[in-house]
Amino acid sequence: MRYCSSCAAPLRLERPPGDDRERHVCTRCGHIHYVNPKVVVGALCTWEDRLLLCRRAIEPRAGFWTIPAGYLELGETAEQGAEREAWEEARARIRIDGLIAVYSVPRIDQVQLLYRACLLARDVAPGPESLEVELVEWSAIPWDRLAFPTVRWLLERARELRGRDDPLVTVFNPPGSGTGPDLGGA
Ligand SMILES: [Zn+2]
Repeated sequence: MRYCSSCAAPLRLERPPGDDRERHVCTRCGHIHYVNPKVVVGALCTWEDRLLLCRRAIEPRAGFWTIPAGYLELGETAEQGAEREAWEEARARIRIDGLIAVYSVPRIDQVQLLYRACLLARDVAPGPESLEVELVEWSAIPWDRLAFPTVRWLLERARELRGRDDPLVTVFNPPGSGTGPDLGGA
């Protein structure tokens, strides 16, 4: 970030009074431009005993499999964002049942909220960001072709939770995973 989005003057890095770290501060209007992590929302969507996976058409990790997920937009709730991503990437209409996981990925400045959802209809189709979408049996998950570590974490966790009814199960980064898996923008 180099220029102020309010007045277009150059920014400089300085520590505002009372703050504990440097910020981008406008040299003309004094506006402090805070930079904070982004929220990614997504859903593990199931139909009977199958789960919805999408093969990515875009970088990063084009050609690899993921769940529908992406950045939360302004003005929507996290659940609405997850529903929107399911539609955009897989033309899937879903009902969100609860949260499965909250993952923090500080190396790329993301917090991910990942839900469990049911497909409202079996028909799904690739959206513009997907090469193909598939309803995959649990035994046929392409573990070695998943796009991101958090997708693997989520699928491993969801497999553990199969058959359990509790709708709200929040977990954290798996032990030993560190804080910096290489996860792209989804
Ligand atoms: Zn300014």
